[in-house]
Amino acid sequence: MKHLLLVLLLPLFTAAFNPVQNDRNYQANIDLTNIVDDMVKVALVVPVLEVDEVIYDMPKIVPGTYKIYDYGQFVNDFKAFDSKGNELKFEKLNENQWRIFNAYELYKIEYWVSDSYDLSGNKIFAPAGTSIEEDAFLLNNFGFIGYLQELEDVPFTLEIDKPSSMYGTTSLQEISRSDAKDLFEAKDYFELHDCPILYAAPDTASILVAGMPITIGVYSKEGKIKAAEIRDALIPVFEAAATYLGGTLPAPRYTILVYGLTLRQSMSGTGALEHHTSTVVNMPDVNGNYLKMFGYENPMQMYRDIVAHEFFHIVTPLNIHSEQIADYDFINPQTSEHLWFYEGVTEYNSMISQARSGVVSFEDFLDEIKSKMEGSRRYNQNIPFTEMSKYSLSFFGNQFNNVYEKGALIGLAVDLKLRSLSEGEFGLINLLEDMWQVYGADTFFVDEDLFSILAAKSFPQMEEFFVRHIAGTQPLPLEDLFAEVGIAYVAKKEIDGISLGSMNVVFSKKNNGLMLSSIDAESAFAKEMKLEKGDILREINGVKIDFEENSHSAITAFYEVLGNIKVGETISINIEREEKDGVMKNLKLKGKAKAEKKTVFDSITINENLTEKQRTLRHFWINN
Ligand SMILES: [Zn+2]
Repeated sequence: MKHLLLVLLLPLFTAAFNPVQNDRNYQANIDLTNIVDDMVKVALVVPVLEVDEVIYDMPKIVPGTYKIYDYGQFVNDFKAFDSKGNELKFEKLNENQWRIFNAYELYKIEYWVSDSYDLSGNKIFAPAGTSIEEDAFLLNNFGFIGYLQELEDVPFTLEIDKPSSMYGTTSLQEISRSDAKDLFEAKDYFELHDCPILYAAPDTASILVAGMPITIGVYSKEGKIKAAEIRDALIPVFEAAATYLGGTLPAPRYTILVYGLTLRQSMSGTGALEHHTSTVVNMPDVNGNYLKMFGYENPMQMYRDIVAHEFFHIVTPLNIHSEQIADYDFINPQTSEHLWFYEGVTEYNSMISQARSGVVSFEDFLDEIKSKMEGSRRYNQNIPFTEMSKYSLSFFGNQFNNVYEKGALIGLAVDLKLRSLSEGEFGLINLLEDMWQVYGADTFFVDEDLFSILAAKSFPQMEEFFVRHIAGTQPLPLEDLFAEVGIAYVAKKEIDGISLGSMNVVFSKKNNGLMLSSIDAESAFAKEMKLEKGDILREINGVKIDFEENSHSAITAFYEVLGNIKVGETISINIEREEKDGVMKNLKLKGKAKAEKKTVFDSITINENLTEKQRTLRHFWINN
């Protein structure tokens, strides 16, 4: 029914976009002033063609996402016209491709595009998605505009009809702007796809860091996210990046598009996607106290970590990359086996640059490393990282997120190994700088050669290191590497501790309290205390578990009390338990803390008494 209605209605809204066709560029138009059934109209006047048939592609995948998204699924009511307005015949080949016949007559392609944010199930990562709302548009251009096969390298002009109340923030080169119409240009499809635009009520802020203009544009329905506040929080991050990168920043300009999500959308969408001169950031549209739920003491640190990561993607892979990325195929993507290099090294760079400049303390940096260690334990250790990367679009998809965990640890290990071999003077960033001199945005290396290239540019011993720990499955030698900078690291040890029956707690919204989500019922602790799964924990040893402030602080307080209990001490816990008839009953549970052997992973201690060598290496490494 909906579709029938569309066919009847749409011609009424046909905008008059009929520019003169030429043989030099595509001329695209997106009309944001007529939303019909949550869709906007796209018109594309193509370059003059001299072929019988041509295929129009919408991307199946875009760089940085590592997932098939099929942007063709958002195209509705596809039509192709000659210059007199007659419809040309076409056939739809698959979700993302249309074959148009009598292509030498082709003047214009028109269709209506729906957005990914309204897609049920939130299948597309929000920063790679598209949004069409009355008060905002997130134009990831690849979700609206495609290209003719073999003609990806032809320039585009992009005209946007827009509500006068909205401003479009983008890194795209602008030709002109007015109340009703903006005109942009891109040198080819790659650049068009690489420069998203955010249209919303104007809230922008700018700053110049190390000669690079940075612009922040925000969409916040609730008004909780402010461009100026984000700018102020990010200045130290960009200054730290400039210092780490030898004094300059590697882009002519940088635009940060922040799109606030509802809490419900945030559950599957928070994050960011990198581009050469911009990034799209999706954050919950809530105030700082809510952000603390994600474990950040300073909510702005969340923005810092996310933006630093995306920015360092300019180094890898945007400027140092293999052929799969250099000649990106939007329809038949090939994945590189070096995701450790693209995602892991990027994550590590964002962490170490902040630590070296003191934006993040040495202790907090090591805490973050520790959480990467814990995170990486959730993944299969017996798959070589290169193999996992290569098949991350298919059967190793569930291992992909390890690129941010173990991938970052690989970055750390490579950095420490290089520091060790060079007596401190040559680290990962120096190696990347040297690689950049040779490769850069327009050249590439062959995947199989990366290890030998990196070894040739640093130390021959590195090749074996890469083969063992990245192409092979030998654990990273972090104990030895950390020892060289005066850090005692023990991956796994047994200690005597009190038994807590491996209990886990979660926040229960229904009861506004901490709920026991799991406990080993056979453990001495569970038997002694008579705790049951589902119990709501209200008080432990006289300390109230208080949710006045937020759930994060309540959980922290709970673990603090638990952590201080000694063997033999009495534990008292006040709980509420739901009876069979649904009534909540208050109970006071009492018992004694029992000893047991416990396994502790990843203990990291900073030594203060350093040898001269350790002091030198630590200084070069972390600037401390
Ligand atoms: Zn990334």
